[in-house]
Amino acid sequence: MSQNAPTGHTQHPEWNATVLGYPRIGPDRETKKAMEALWAGRADLAATESALAAVRARTVRRLNALGLPAHDASIPSSFSAYDQVLDTAVAVGAVPERFADLVGADGRVDLGACSTMARGRGTLAPLEMTKWFDTNYHYLVPEIGPTTAFRFADDRGVREFSEALADGFLTRPVVVGPVTFLLLAKAADGGPEGFAPISRLEDLLAAYEGLLAAHAAAGATWVQLDEPGLVSESATARVDGLADLVRGAYERLAAVPGRPRLLVATPYGDAQEFLGALSAVEGIALDLVEGSAPADPSVLAGKTVVGGVVDGRNVWRGDLEEARESLRRMQGSAGRVVPGTSTSLLHVPHDVSRESALPERLRGWLSFADQKVAEVVLLGRALADPDGSGVAAGLADSAAARADRLGASGVVRPQVRDRLAALTPDAFRRSDHAVRRVAQETALGLPLLPTTTIGSFPQTSEIRRARAARSRGELAQEGYEEFLRAEIDRVVQLQEELGLDVLVHGEPERNDMVQYFAEQLDGFAVTEHGWVQSYGSRGVRPPILWGDVSRPAPITVPWSRYAASRTAKPVKGMLTGPVTILAWSFVRDDQPLGDTANQVALALRDEVADLEAAGIGIVQVDEPALRELLPLRTADQAAYLDWSVTAFRLATAGAADATQVHTHLCYSEFGEVIEAIDGLDADVTSIEAARSRMEVLEDVARAGFARGIGPGVYDIHSPRVPSAEEVVGLLRSAVGSVPAPQVWVNPDCGLKTRGYAETTESLRNLVEAARTVRAEL
Ligand code: GLN
Ligand code: ZN
Repeated sequence: MSQNAPTGHTQHPEWNATVLGYPRIGPDRETKKAMEALWAGRADLAATESALAAVRARTVRRLNALGLPAHDASIPSSFSAYDQVLDTAVAVGAVPERFADLVGADGRVDLGACSTMARGRGTLAPLEMTKWFDTNYHYLVPEIGPTTAFRFADDRGVREFSEALADGFLTRPVVVGPVTFLLLAKAADGGPEGFAPISRLEDLLAAYEGLLAAHAAAGATWVQLDEPGLVSESATARVDGLADLVRGAYERLAAVPGRPRLLVATPYGDAQEFLGALSAVEGIALDLVEGSAPADPSVLAGKTVVGGVVDGRNVWRGDLEEARESLRRMQGSAGRVVPGTSTSLLHVPHDVSRESALPERLRGWLSFADQKVAEVVLLGRALADPDGSGVAAGLADSAAARADRLGASGVVRPQVRDRLAALTPDAFRRSDHAVRRVAQETALGLPLLPTTTIGSFPQTSEIRRARAARSRGELAQEGYEEFLRAEIDRVVQLQEELGLDVLVHGEPERNDMVQYFAEQLDGFAVTEHGWVQSYGSRGVRPPILWGDVSRPAPITVPWSRYAASRTAKPVKGMLTGPVTILAWSFVRDDQPLGDTANQVALALRDEVADLEAAGIGIVQVDEPALRELLPLRTADQAAYLDWSVTAFRLATAGAADATQVHTHLCYSEFGEVIEAIDGLDADVTSIEAARSRMEVLEDVARAGFARGIGPGVYDIHSPRVPSAEEVVGLLRSAVGSVPAPQVWVNPDCGLKTRGYAETTESLRNLVEAARTVRAEL
């Protein structure tokens, strides 16, 4: 314990269990609804604040009802209306210059102003958004410059703590820690060359000192500082002497007079090399699912250690016996071991008991946020109860649920396993690309710089209405299918008029590129209420991959075949790849991910064969999540790339030489995964490139990548229409770095979020530009 341990320490009860955070969206997506009402002008600030306060009040009550005591700070105060990194930026005064007018005289930044920082307004560009570690959550990237004026400015977090306290709950405020905050930030534009935000750590700490003092004044006994930045090698490797910076930072925060006790959490992996630098804090929360107990247990001596044994990112009931054992093993070395979740529960849905449409047996295997709270509470009682009599029934129940799952039919399907076991290396290999290229040229007869799109066309409100009517049973299957065919007709005709070379059917039948496949494959279940925050007010409802995967019937074939029957041009079939299907689902935890991926791949392989049989000569297998799933630890990356590439090849290598396999990747960090992209062996790869002005093509050229490449020539994330001249410029630079016969012309990504007005105009310019540059070759 540091010599600056807060006063009154001993009079506070210790927790028996805790969670690192709880979903912020509300069980019925109340937060989303409140924020969207504010944005649409249907609610004012006061009404929005009170709707959000209701979500918070419900959360503390719920956590308390599930077994976390009201007065020991084991209930986290982890709310955020939009994003916790944005909240932290605002709290420490890190508001970029262009938003300076939005800060109130008292330093506060209200919900409207936060929304502007998150979403932009007019010519005010929003903060950039990017992935939160290796999760599907996205945070807003702070912009830090040499003159960012750090100070404790916005006290929203303190007010939320006080609000709970007034309601009778002593909670534990959760804030992004100072080191992670700077590791995740980017250098503000216009700053000096080589400036690194972490160089401002000393200045930033002054703001955190103010924040801790304010929390102490409000009565907080513990504050949780999330430092997941310490587990990310790509972040920590960039900073020399980071452990010393961490040590210095926490010694300084520990010296704040009268401060609350500090719990530093390192979710999403292992921060072993930094634990020794945290000697000044009273508590450490370890992720024991992704990471492991420290090799040198002395770093935990005298501390409260939250052993993150309950997986905060998956939906299965845990093995509580094993969890108890691993906590007991740590008990000897640490001061006090408290069971917890490995991460915040923001990555899982609220409550499985609402999923009445799921098969009861499957429901019995699952644990969402509320069930996970109950799991840590049970473990807390198990640790406190040496003979275990009071908890035996609970532990036995969870063991029985796991055992029931392992043996259940559908979890193991012998036909699927036998088929995988019988595969030979040939199943993963196509002919040489040179051979395929000749066969495809003959079969397809495409011009140089062929034009195409990434698959989806605008999902209009009519499409969404028809789908909703279908799921409510108001529209019969036949009527729905007729509607979809009419939609495909329109989209095909539009593409013909625009003069695109390779057509798509437009994906009107898909609610989501993963859920659509999950709904039609055996081994997956979809939920009714299982929403998880993706970013801001956006949520996703990941399918649950619970059993061995197989394909009872063709999925996309009727739609692609129909589209092909309406045009003489080649139509590209459209599938979601195995890695992306896994990345955007909750996956099973009882077998290696690579095995699960190969099962999905086999189902897709059959789909590819059926598309070919239906006369479809081009098939695109989208893998936008390939880069996203790349492990944080470099040591784990090779194994990941191996199984992910293997699964893609299994899905696609059954295609004939003359069938052109495309893939689409939603990012432009081509250099980082070039070997994997090469390994996929797709004939054509489309990637994001417009925002980087085609710079990515230099990586492509440097790597000697010899297959087709479609650098996105305009950014579909914005309604802006690129002019033909602009696209001509990009294409000229593309054929300047890569041989023209390799270059394809396409937008950055699917068009489903766009409207028809800008889509039509943009594609018209794209086709015109391709023709112009083609004529120059
Ligand atoms: N084919 C998908 C579409 O066009 C690809 C989406 C994606 O890359 N995320 O919508
Ligand atoms: Zn994309």
